[in-house]
Amino acid sequence: MEFLKVNNLTKTYLKDDQLIHAVDHVSFRVKKGSFIAVTGESGSGKSTLLHMLAGLEVPTSGEIILDKTNIYSFTEDQLTIFRRRQIGMVYQFYNLIPTLNVKENILLPLLLDRKEVDVNYFNQIISSLHIENELNSYPNNLSGGQQQRVALARALIHHPSVLLCDEPTGNLDSSNAREIADLLKLISIKYDTTIILITHDMNIAMQADEIYWMEKGKLSKYVEKL
Ligand code: ADP
Ligand code: MG
Repeated sequence: MEFLKVNNLTKTYLKDDQLIHAVDHVSFRVKKGSFIAVTGESGSGKSTLLHMLAGLEVPTSGEIILDKTNIYSFTEDQLTIFRRRQIGMVYQFYNLIPTLNVKENILLPLLLDRKEVDVNYFNQIISSLHIENELNSYPNNLSGGQQQRVALARALIHHPSVLLCDEPTGNLDSSNAREIADLLKLISIKYDTTIILITHDMNIAMQADEIYWMEKGKLSKYVEKL
């Protein structure tokens, strides 16, 4: 089933009297539980695309249909709830809160949303991500790979239907990067989470079901480039 449909999506910025076509008439479709990688050079529009998918940046034109709903037809409040409940985000820098321990960092989104903790699901996630022995540790005492796995757990704690990752392995060595990519693959299968991963690293992109290439705001299937 086509879960995510992006139609003619465009984002244009005006900078110093110049129009920048950051995302230029992008269309693609993603099935539920698919793992998609988007690669391309710096400045090609990848993060802008991801922010629009997250409901964080209003498109100049075009539409994003998630589970049959146009997300930019939402009111501001509905969009906030949509973001909180449907979208998980992971960035290059883990953005963990240094004064909270691992368990508290992971559960923070539920606390902010006044939601009960599903203990069974929590235990599943921490064990899949191999952080069950670090729950009382503080972020500063963890390696980069461990911190990113905690950030991943935090992004997953509210069962998002879509997980958006912006260069999550950009700060990791190749073995930790590979582990994160393997975990993303596992998550897409185990929880039927639709994953969109931005990466510069072809070895990481190869883990995905499909690879797209972004260049000057245009998106194409990577195979078409070969
Ligand atoms: P990538 O993530 O592929 O490096 P970005 O999506 O960050 O690319 O940026 C795409 C283009 O849009 C770049 O030329 C960037 O300078 C421009 N851009 C991004 N955000 C803004 C903004 N808020 N205002 C003006 N230009 C922007
Ligand atoms: Mg970027």
